[in-house]
Amino acid sequence: MTPAEAAELLAHCAAFDRRTIGEADARAWSRALHDVPLDDDTRGAVAEHYAHTDQWITVAQVRAIRARIRSGRIDAAHPVYDGQPGETGEQFVARRRAQVTAAAEGELPARTITQAIGAAPSENLLALLPAVGRPVVEAEEPGPYVDEQTRVEIREHLPGNRAALVELEVDCPNSRCRAARRHLCRSSRGRELRGTVHGQRRDAYAVRHAQCPECGAPPSHACTTPEPHPARVRAATADRPMPNRRQLDRLMRTPPAPRKSRARHTTGGTQR
Ligand SMILES: [Zn+2]
Ligand SMILES: [Zn+2]
Repeated sequence: MTPAEAAELLAHCAAFDRRTIGEADARAWSRALHDVPLDDDTRGAVAEHYAHTDQWITVAQVRAIRARIRSGRIDAAHPVYDGQPGETGEQFVARRRAQVTAAAEGELPARTITQAIGAAPSENLLALLPAVGRPVVEAEEPGPYVDEQTRVEIREHLPGNRAALVELEVDCPNSRCRAARRHLCRSSRGRELRGTVHGQRRDAYAVRHAQCPECGAPPSHACTTPEPHPARVRAATADRPMPNRRQLDRLMRTPPAPRKSRARHTTGGTQR
């Protein structure tokens, strides 16, 4: 603000505190508030100060209270600037700054964070809500990515619990394991891994038997990437058998067995 504007602001202060104002005061305030305009927020800061205290207001207080008034509006408006395609970094900064200034001036309406980021539930999601808690109808489930006949053949050769680990159908390519087909992987200490296999074996199984939903590579063909796409690996084991209703009921009725040791518990959770 100019010395003249500073004199006007000081006159506004004098209305509250009856101070006498000289030219030196106006010039000093103008210099200290060189980047602050004389606007409604600046006058409002003075009024707010004297609404709470009899002490003379200082330049620092004018600055602080004005900033608080404006940041309150920014907080309420939750301005979000996503950027526009093709704009330069400078344009982004300028537009973002203009948006924040508009919010500080009170030109943007107050809104919630959810409104600001457009995170209200989509129509698709809302349409699904009535189905929450209801059993899934089998026919609506997506088909398995590994065709059923192949899967049955694989499972037939993997007796007992191992049927769940369809990956045992391929050799483990992990250089420190190299478990042969139908044999469980072994940890680096030589212990059999009961509930899982090495990641490389999981990948190898996925490549051999699943079509990639990401790049479309058919079974036995590598993905376009050095490692198979995660979607392919997920798809390959998407229909891992789940415990059936009766097993679940039994589990719910059985009190948990006392833990033998912590180390045992962390090895995969499968009962030995
Ligand atoms: Zn292995
Ligand atoms: Zn792929």
